[in-house]
Amino acid sequence: METPPRAWVKNAEELRAELSKREVDEATAIKKRLKELGSEGVDARVAAIGPKVEAAIDCTQCAACCKVLEPELSQADLGRLPAIEGLGLVEFARTRTESSNSGKVFLKAGPCAHLKGGSCSIYAQRPESCADFPHLYRPHFMYRRLIWEHYTLCPIVFNVVQCLIEELNGKLEGETDFGNLSPSA
Ligand code: SF4
Ligand code: SF4
Repeated sequence: METPPRAWVKNAEELRAELSKREVDEATAIKKRLKELGSEGVDARVAAIGPKVEAAIDCTQCAACCKVLEPELSQADLGRLPAIEGLGLVEFARTRTESSNSGKVFLKAGPCAHLKGGSCSIYAQRPESCADFPHLYRPHFMYRRLIWEHYTLCPIVFNVVQCLIEELNGKLEGETDFGNLSPSA
């Protein structure tokens, strides 16, 4: 029988509703289950699952990350972003960024000044960290603190983790082939 289209969690409201049905400390139980795959095994499955999930989620219908997170800025970002706003580097740094004690520089958010009508107004030139968010493909997915912080923020992370668990359950029960999961439009 053909697998029905999957109902992805697509935005912050749907994610909040989904999380409200779950145990508060669900992530701890999930991390224990993922150990069955091992860190490299999880990374391999995330590499397979992630593109499918990302293709199914329209970030302009969510923008949750742009409302609360402060993306780290690279040297390349700092060389590019001030001119977009017609500012010199010093003025840009003073008015648009925050610095950590370790010298990292972050774009101020809450929400980000470039978020306009749910979309990034500098999308083609957005910071590298924004383009890579939610950083699915960095090594050791299951051990990265930020992945679990973003599990309750980002529908992409949430859906990827749910797929991992469903796949793991399917393997144990001999039923689910992740390749059959097809995202709904
Ligand atoms: S990356 Fe995640 S939190 Fe950000 S807009 Fe897309 S789905 Fe929402
Ligand atoms: S620069 Fe664009 S993608 Fe990055 S946080 Fe701001 S609005 Fe979002």
